[in-house]
Amino acid sequence: MKIYNTLTKKVEPFVSIEPNKVKMYTCGPTVYNYAHIGNLRTYISEDVLQKTLEFIGYDVERCMNITDVGHLTSDGDTGDDKMKLASERENKTVLEIADYYTQTFLKDIEKLNIKKPAIISKATDNIDEYIKIITKLLENDKAYLAGGNVYFDTSKLNDYYVLTNHKTDDLLIGARESVLIDNNKKNQADFVLWFTKSKFTDQEQKWESPWGLGYPGWHIECSAISMKYLGEYLDIHCGAVDNIFPHHTNEIAQCEAYLNHKWCNYWVHMEFLNDITGKMSKSKGEFLTLESLISKGYNPLAYRLFCLQSHYRKQLEFSFEALDNTAKAYQKLLNKIKSLKKEEENLDQKIVSDYIQKFKNALEDDLNTSYALTVLYDLLKENTNDFTKLYLIKQFDQVLSLDLLKEKNTEINSELKDYIEQKIKERNIAKQDKNYELADQIRNELLEKNIIIKDTRQGTIYEIKGE
Ligand code: AMP
Ligand code: ZN
Repeated sequence: MKIYNTLTKKVEPFVSIEPNKVKMYTCGPTVYNYAHIGNLRTYISEDVLQKTLEFIGYDVERCMNITDVGHLTSDGDTGDDKMKLASERENKTVLEIADYYTQTFLKDIEKLNIKKPAIISKATDNIDEYIKIITKLLENDKAYLAGGNVYFDTSKLNDYYVLTNHKTDDLLIGARESVLIDNNKKNQADFVLWFTKSKFTDQEQKWESPWGLGYPGWHIECSAISMKYLGEYLDIHCGAVDNIFPHHTNEIAQCEAYLNHKWCNYWVHMEFLNDITGKMSKSKGEFLTLESLISKGYNPLAYRLFCLQSHYRKQLEFSFEALDNTAKAYQKLLNKIKSLKKEEENLDQKIVSDYIQKFKNALEDDLNTSYALTVLYDLLKENTNDFTKLYLIKQFDQVLSLDLLKEKNTEINSELKDYIEQKIKERNIAKQDKNYELADQIRNELLEKNIIIKDTRQGTIYEIKGE
């Protein structure tokens, strides 16, 4: 298996620390709003990485955090707390916000057939861990107290910029957004480990600590959760490219200063999904969610396929036109697979081993998912029996997770079902009222979303349009 490592800036062979075992950490969502389809692209790519490793025989232990405190509106350590802003926006407590958006996130990943990480840990459940690490960093003179906050001292490291070519001048990302420079810092690159004082809106959630009532910085959360559950040595750490700096750079700094040895071997970063207007931004509030795609009649797995068609290290531009094309291709693929004969025949062993090898080769080549899909299409055209094809499709779907063999793969999920049933009710009322214009309008509205309704003696039935 070869994978691009941001640390070495090379595609390199993957070698795990322990044989056949991979410890993998993936940065989780900040739960102040719905995940947007850009965030979800990253989780899909991470899922493909995990499943590829499993496919080639590794046992993957994966951990993900839920950021429910401490992520400020800037990725540095300035700005307001995202959770607090959400609680004001929605007139709910921070806890209610976190619970609600954690649940919607878990539902989203389920709909996309993303395997739920075995360990999911909330930032607010690990306060003792942060205190333990920060205490040691202070003892070892890698951190200092200033103006009520604890800062990591980046000048104590030989090389802080291990992941990027950033220079200190580029660092003022937070300052650029909020035009505020933290004068407590000894070095511009220093970052907050623990806040007791913030220049911004006061934080709702606070905990006792040796440095006063306060709350952790965002970066320490992932480091502490990773070390708590996966230990001192980590194989792979993932996130999207925006995490490279400062988040992951700071994670390496504090972990290695704490552990006194190298912490993580492979840093895998996923490129962004943008829409036509550019970057999709959760904090600016305008973005596409999986629910919005579903309500437009798209199968979530058509979106998964849309992501798999491109390489995770290439930016991907989202448009409904492009998704329409993928949705059609997905339906065509399912129909083709459905038409294969199910009767048991002899497995064509040569084809099985050739195709497993080709499929592995594609994924082992820095997760070349689009080539893995080509292997699937080639298989469908192959001169062999259908039973062998179905056998291989089942294997491939362990990684692709497109429900290629599900009996009813035009399955209608519960939200879409509710929506359709509501529309049918409205149409029946319109018909009773002899408002045929409205009834037709509702029928057409559904048809635009690929939903065909038919009036039968038993009532109105519906189905998702095929090709
Ligand atoms: P957040 O919930 O904002 O903490 O982000 C969750 C994950 O999504 C992180 O790994 C981010 O780096 C990633 N991410 C944010 N925006 C995008 C985007 N437009 N495309 C892909 N991944 C993204
Ligand atoms: Zn993280």
